[in-house]
Amino acid sequence: MKICAATGNPGKLAELRRILEAQGHTVLSQKELGLDLEPEETGETFAENARIKAEAFCRASGLPTVADDSGLCVEALGGAPGVYSARYCGRHGDDEANNDRLLAEMERVPAENRGAKFGSAVCLMLPGGRALTCLGECPGRVAFERLSGDYGFGYDPLFIPDECGTPEGKRPKAEGRSYAQLTPDEKDAISHRGQALRRLEEQLPAFLEKETK
Ligand code: IMP
Repeated sequence: MKICAATGNPGKLAELRRILEAQGHTVLSQKELGLDLEPEETGETFAENARIKAEAFCRASGLPTVADDSGLCVEALGGAPGVYSARYCGRHGDDEANNDRLLAEMERVPAENRGAKFGSAVCLMLPGGRALTCLGECPGRVAFERLSGDYGFGYDPLFIPDECGTPEGKRPKAEGRSYAQLTPDEKDAISHRGQALRRLEEQLPAFLEKETK
């Protein structure tokens, strides 16, 4: 199926593309489709915001559209930055400044209280307005400093997932590697977005079948 990916975030787009294309779909980004919209993310949950984005881009593109809304929820910060992850530093999409703020907020938090999880809601909207939303979560903890690697974007250098490994060889506790230090395959196998997109893949045939009835 030809799918519009409603994101301007190159890191997210790369992940949506590689996971959905591995499932046999063709992904066209909002940029490739010449769409320059910025719908206001007024929702209080990842699911609400994913739907807002999917709906806006589905209307504009006329194609089945997938949108992801995601973020990092830190226990010691009462679940922040959560839906405000992209603008935690006060402006939208400045990854370095967002990471600086997170490190500053967590400066005095000891190792045992640094639990966090990444959450993702992925919404697929069809022209006509029917939507399928799937959720994914990845538990882990916040590092004391950036653990940069060859991969990743956003908060990846500061997030150490509890598990790592590809589906054949999942290992607990990630050997202390951050999301940024996992290979793309390893990240997709355990990540919040990977899980949400796998659920979408499982539920998509039944969802589409209802459409044709
Ligand atoms: P939004 O979903 O576009 O509103 O923004 C999500 C925010 O969380 C952005 O700051 C992203 O960089 C960050 N984020 C979402 N998923 C990931 C991820 O897999 N790794 C690192 N940061 C992420």
